[in-house]
Amino acid sequence: MMPEKQSKEENEVEALKEVGDIENHPSYRFIPKGYHEWRQEGGYIICRSCELEHAVWIGMDKILVGLNKDGKPILKNRDDYFKKQL
Ligand SMILES: [Zn+2]
Repeated sequence: MMPEKQSKEENEVEALKEVGDIENHPSYRFIPKGYHEWRQEGGYIICRSCELEHAVWIGMDKILVGLNKDGKPILKNRDDYFKKQL
């Protein structure tokens, strides 16, 4: 599956897409407010700090590098991120 190409810089929560197949993953719910301890697992970032675990699909070309002061996930393009490491 190819991720959608999006040219604009995406390092804020606006870049996140709500998980589409809620019916297949009833425990996944996008909760935009409050503080979440996001952990990346594959193409998802998953929060287990909330009472109800929830996850957001970010795509395989994104990497979670941390949280900003508002507790929102900071996402980088995986390619850009690893280029800077070299
Ligand atoms: Zn949460």
